[in-house]
Amino acid sequence: MRIIPVPDELTHYSSRRLDEVDELAWPVLSQHALDLLRSSGEELHPAPGELLWDAGDPTDLHLVLTGGVLLVDRRADRVVFVIEAGDFVGELGMLMGQRAVFQGVAMEQTAILRVRVEELRRLVEISGELSDVVLSALDARRRFLSRKGEGGLVLAGDDDRDLHRLQDFAERNQIPYRTVLRSNPSAWSELAQTCALPETGTAVVTAQRRVMTSPTTRDLATALGIDLWGIADDARCDLLVVGAGPAGLAAAVYGASEGLDVVVVEDVAIGGQAGSSSRIENYLGFYRGVSGVELARAAMLQAVKFGTRLLSPRSVTGLSQVPGGFRVRLDDEHDVLASAVIIASGVRYRRLDLPGLADLEGRGVYYAASQLEANSVSGRNAVVVGGANSAGQAALFLARTAGHVHVLIRRDDLRDTMSNYLAQRLTHHERITVHPCCELSAVHGGSRLSELTWHDRARDRDVRLDAAALFLMIGADPCTPWLHDSGVDLDAKGFVRTHDSFATSIPGLFAVGDVRADSVKRVASAVGEGSVAISAVHAYLASKRTF
Ligand SMILES: Cc1cc2nc3c(=O)[nH]c(=O)nc-3n(C[C@H](O)[C@H](O)[C@H](O)COP(=O)(O)OP(=O)(O)OC[C@H]3O[C@@H](n4cnc5c(N)ncnc54)[C@H](O)[C@@H]3O)c2cc1C
Repeated sequence: MRIIPVPDELTHYSSRRLDEVDELAWPVLSQHALDLLRSSGEELHPAPGELLWDAGDPTDLHLVLTGGVLLVDRRADRVVFVIEAGDFVGELGMLMGQRAVFQGVAMEQTAILRVRVEELRRLVEISGELSDVVLSALDARRRFLSRKGEGGLVLAGDDDRDLHRLQDFAERNQIPYRTVLRSNPSAWSELAQTCALPETGTAVVTAQRRVMTSPTTRDLATALGIDLWGIADDARCDLLVVGAGPAGLAAAVYGASEGLDVVVVEDVAIGGQAGSSSRIENYLGFYRGVSGVELARAAMLQAVKFGTRLLSPRSVTGLSQVPGGFRVRLDDEHDVLASAVIIASGVRYRRLDLPGLADLEGRGVYYAASQLEANSVSGRNAVVVGGANSAGQAALFLARTAGHVHVLIRRDDLRDTMSNYLAQRLTHHERITVHPCCELSAVHGGSRLSELTWHDRARDRDVRLDAAALFLMIGADPCTPWLHDSGVDLDAKGFVRTHDSFATSIPGLFAVGDVRADSVKRVASAVGEGSVAISAVHAYLASKRTF
């Protein structure tokens, strides 16, 4: 008989629902939902202690009929969850092709119903009730894991740029993680007992106990199984969307929900610029505001629910016309054939050309203000450069933790460039000072930013200030270099020109959101354009003989 791992005092039991996240995470399935799952599943009767799947294996939904399933973190040989009769095993990543983060081990007298993930996706599409209950549960579980740092990655190293890069990747791709710093000897040696950590640099310990030294985000994505959704070379689809910001996600949701086979390719992280916004306050229906990460997560779930395939992080490097549609080239030289393409690649933040600045990126110099950065400015000075709404939001957000926030603007009045409500809040905030007619002139620091200097044109003097962080929010350029050989019409700044129904100069190629010339640069308009463009895509596909 195999040895069954033993739960400890930190083990979570699916039947012990302590708060509303638990209630969502472990729902009581209705008879209708159970019947649907039974109609598509196969019953298994594993031996006690039998390994049902290992960390790193592809996963399916497992409904526990009797007995229970232990979810074991291999890194610490700990039972993290006990899934009891009536509850099901499954995690958000399952629907996105990600691999299992825990081992599954059968308890005594266990019977389970296994529903293959492809079947689950089909059921979720045909049953609104099952879709609601399963997707809410998977989302709640992911939030629980993220909050506890359970089951995901362990990011180990020094508090430097490389570690920040990986934290940012995990944060923006909503992958649970916890950080172990060398400067914390007890946590470091505890981790070192379970795996071989490098003397220097950054390491990622995956759920399979694999140690990756300073991995690229691509390598990490591949190890996690989040980069390729079973897309083979020359795969075909009705619609390929470039970019998973609000515009691209809206196009995916509306396209997939209306029966199109949709592939979305995203270079950095789901959510686009909006995903890096700490609080979006002017999006309809969210009177208390919504964090960009939350909005992105909800939109991603919606897109996946309707069968969208998301490839991330992967970038599109070129596009050409072929009979029946387009050949879209990915950065790994894979091609995807699409009958129609929507360009939703948005814009990218502008950088400042100052000596030493690039070396401090991620180590005190940032282009967005999330909770991670807010923590790093606690009680100290933060400097925001820029006068647009994004700068205003960042300043207000940082002022919750920072000792003081200094906002540098080139013009003499904030209201020229910022929404009035934000400008008012900044002006009246006791821990925010707006410095008009000021330009950043130097950054100082060794391993991290420590001070910076700006020139005050009105008083013709230089001001040097000690600062924990600098946030550059000075505008953005369109992400269209990949379109330069495509023949599509761009304006002088590189934005895509469109006419009726977001059509570009090439039939079958559409552009929506910030990447479009003369766009409004708002979440709501990006979402509106992405969804409206789908009717034009339908009309185009109906009029053409495509793949
Ligand atoms: C910090 C911040 C705060 C903001 N706050 C607000 C707010 O409160 N209210 C509001 O209305 N607006 C706000 N905005 C603006 C809003 O976020 C944008 O208008 C909106 O995100 C535009 O959506 P989009 O989908 O067109 O482009 P983006 O959000 O820019 O998304 C484009 C996506 O395409 C990807 N991409 C680019 N090139 C490629 C390629 N070659 N291959 C694959 N993928 C690619 C990018 O990685 C990106 O994820 C804010 C912006 C920022 C930066």
